[in-house]
Amino acid sequence: MKIIEPHVHMIARTVQDYERMARMHTVAICEPAFWAGYDRTSPQAFHDYFTHISEFEPTRAAQYLIDHYCWICINPKEAEDVAFSREVISFMPEFLKKPNVLGIGEIGLNKNTRNEMIIFEEQVELALKLDQLIWIHTPHLQDKLKGTKMMLDYLAGHGGVDPARVCFDHTEEHTLPMLHEKGFWCAMTVYPVTKNSPERVIDLVEKFGLDRMIVDASGDWGPSDPATLHDTLFQMRLRGHSDKSVEQLFYNNPCRFLGQSGKFKPQPMDA
Ligand SMILES: [Zn+2]
Repeated sequence: MKIIEPHVHMIARTVQDYERMARMHTVAICEPAFWAGYDRTSPQAFHDYFTHISEFEPTRAAQYLIDHYCWICINPKEAEDVAFSREVISFMPEFLKKPNVLGIGEIGLNKNTRNEMIIFEEQVELALKLDQLIWIHTPHLQDKLKGTKMMLDYLAGHGGVDPARVCFDHTEEHTLPMLHEKGFWCAMTVYPVTKNSPERVIDLVEKFGLDRMIVDASGDWGPSDPATLHDTLFQMRLRGHSDKSVEQLFYNNPCRFLGQSGKFKPQPMDA
């Protein structure tokens, strides 16, 4: 069985994680642009970061026969300064033309501020103008429900947004139902200590079905582990789900969503 990891920040990980993922049959991974563990001091630092994730990480991944794709954006954690953010947005189109850049993400909200929302909306407009997929970061903990509703209201009321081309990530029990109902893709991030566990993710899959559902492990600079994706796959098998269903959730679904970019090479097995 082949696995796709739709959300991992390899800039924060060692080569051992590529090696482990390769051993666990991960064939393709996606690196959304986000905070890198520190605030950048200039827009140019984002140019360097986008170059790193679109040029250097693919070469590290290729040594383990893993296809590396990325998303680019100004992330919500650094989007409070509107003028700074607009400078970053100004050079995003040149990166969006690259063959391994899948779209704009992970955009979203962090503290649900007015400025964060302005920059979120401007990046949605850019995605629509350039026909790009959108990957959304929903806020953590106490800000999650409010922030998710703010973005959902905006996108659902927009008129020009096709929910099938938008994925909300870090969804949980209290945010997934309203997004799924409106036709958006929902990704669930599994962490070793906080937030979603393998059990909770498979509970949600059993309740809402496999359609438009994605699982990811979010390896980043904090306590996290790419293997939590495979722990979740194991949990699904333990509960007796068919190999076909497991393959749909961990391989075919990400292929379907990401394939809409026209750049993602892996094809669904059931195509
Ligand atoms: Zn992330």
